[in-house]
Amino acid sequence: MATMLERLRRRRRARSDGRRPGAPAAESRAAAEPPEWPEYAFAERMAAVEFRVADEPHIVVDTDVCRSCTTKACVTACPADLFVPTSDGGILFNYEHCFECGVCYLVCDGEGAITWSYPRGGHGVVMRWS
Ligand code: SF4
Ligand code: SF4
Repeated sequence: MATMLERLRRRRRARSDGRRPGAPAAESRAAAEPPEWPEYAFAERMAAVEFRVADEPHIVVDTDVCRSCTTKACVTACPADLFVPTSDGGILFNYEHCFECGVCYLVCDGEGAITWSYPRGGHGVVMRWS
């Protein structure tokens, strides 16, 4: 059974192919404008969370696939700045401060570049509310 991320990813690819299954009419799109979100500095975002790092990475990046990637979309999309381009066209990735948002997996155009899952129980990101 497809996970939610896989379904979102397929939908995004369908849109980029020009297929828009079930696209709403122009007037309802205008009415559904997304809300404006407040800006938070990177340091503020990182101060609000704690990471319980597992030994095994929950995201694995195949840097061989990344070398032929022309967008490097993960670099700008990752809110934790965990993807760093290298001078030889590759990508350095560190899973330890991952927010588990799944955005890298959604925006990645490289088939098989990212193997994505959640950390095993008791590990991963913890939101601190006070
Ligand atoms: S978007 Fe995907 S294929 Fe491109 S560099 Fe990032 S992880 Fe690699
Ligand atoms: S899941 Fe989110 S925070 Fe983690 S690496 Fe991907 S984009 Fe970055």
